[in-house]
Amino acid sequence: MSKKNELIQSVKGTRDLLPADTPLWQRVEDEARKVFEAYNYREIRTPVLEQTALFARSVGSDTDIVTKEMYTFDDRDSGSLTLRPEATASVVRAYIEHSLYNEPGIQKLYYFGPMFRRERPQKGRYRQFYQIGAEVLGGDHPAIDAEVLEMLALLLERLGLKEFKLLVNSVGCSKCRPEYLKVLRKSLDEVKSRLCEDCQRRSNTNPLRVLDCKIEADQPIIEGLPKIIDHLCPECRQHFDAVTMELKQRGVEFEVVPRLVRGLDYYTRTTFEITSGLLGAQNAVLGGGRYDGLSEMLGGPPAPGIGFAIGQDRLVLTVEAASSLKPAQPLAAYIAWMGEATREAATMLARELRRERIGTEISYHPIKLRKAMGAASKLQVRYAIIIGEQEVESGNYQVKDMGTGEQQSVSAGEIAGFLKEKLREPAPAASPVAGQQ
Ligand code: AMP
Repeated sequence: MSKKNELIQSVKGTRDLLPADTPLWQRVEDEARKVFEAYNYREIRTPVLEQTALFARSVGSDTDIVTKEMYTFDDRDSGSLTLRPEATASVVRAYIEHSLYNEPGIQKLYYFGPMFRRERPQKGRYRQFYQIGAEVLGGDHPAIDAEVLEMLALLLERLGLKEFKLLVNSVGCSKCRPEYLKVLRKSLDEVKSRLCEDCQRRSNTNPLRVLDCKIEADQPIIEGLPKIIDHLCPECRQHFDAVTMELKQRGVEFEVVPRLVRGLDYYTRTTFEITSGLLGAQNAVLGGGRYDGLSEMLGGPPAPGIGFAIGQDRLVLTVEAASSLKPAQPLAAYIAWMGEATREAATMLARELRRERIGTEISYHPIKLRKAMGAASKLQVRYAIIIGEQEVESGNYQVKDMGTGEQQSVSAGEIAGFLKEKLREPAPAASPVAGQQ
């Protein structure tokens, strides 16, 4: 229990995104929305709380997520609930629950939102983090996989990012993976005593996960293990070849990484990850793959699917490190009014500009000109509008361009139109703002 008056801080591994941070988050979301919608994806919003069984069954009961990272609690009357650690399972649950499979064609869905995993916090790894993701349900054509990856490459390009790597692999299907697992188990029996403790356990419970191990000393041993890509059944091989061929046709650069198996159990065939050299140890910006059996695992009809989740926290860090997005447009206008007699005119102008979607600030008290110009500079607005008694009388207000220092008289009724016209021109590059104190 915290003592009375003791400062209560945010929970470990969670963080506040302050007004200085959110513009970048919003720009990333805007760009994602635009790109997804151009590919005919529609937004879905699912609850943050789900029945625990949903993740145990889909993500896999032997994964790190389910065994040690979920925030799970017994609700007062509805059994075990979990704060979602990822959203694919929720989207597929909603797809089944609302019979979206009855709608014509393939369903292309995207989502934004917070996920919760009790991991060890570090830069780029949080306990509440945010994902931007998408799922395509109802088709298994290799062109779908290629289109998903083309769309991701476009999104990163739109965010101005160049230094990323697309890694792809196939993890086979329920037909060929068990055969591969037998071969892998056999090889692991010979080497597992030399692997880390986790890998020794995984060798028995979930041998595929050994390939995911990040422990340095294990790497040469893992490199020598048989590769799933050499053990695909003819259908999976053909699917993978078609995906890589289409990627080449679409000009999407990629690298085949046979060890890429990903942490969740539901993946089949195509798996992928995008890493960025601009991030530190946590360099995966996004991950995803195909999950052709997931709908059936959750009690739904056969509905092959593929999807991805971008770690938004990391994407924002990458965009920041690359300084690839232009700074957001500053506020457009500041209204300075001098004396009670001008309050009404100034208030009405602020109301009008805001209704016209022109970002405007106004002082709440009458203000002296010099102070008003200081306030306008601090806000970095492009225009200050000065309203004194004389201006109210004449109906013409002073509009000052804060970049050039030029000032002109504009009739009150024309100010919105005047500003709109001017604001279409880009703001001058960060020249010292005239009038700055
Ligand atoms: P996953 O759902 O594990 O496939 O992860 C997809 C992406 O989400 C990763 O590539 C990361 O960018 C991001 N991610 C996963 N876990 C975390 C975390 N704890 N903190 C921040 N980002 C995360």
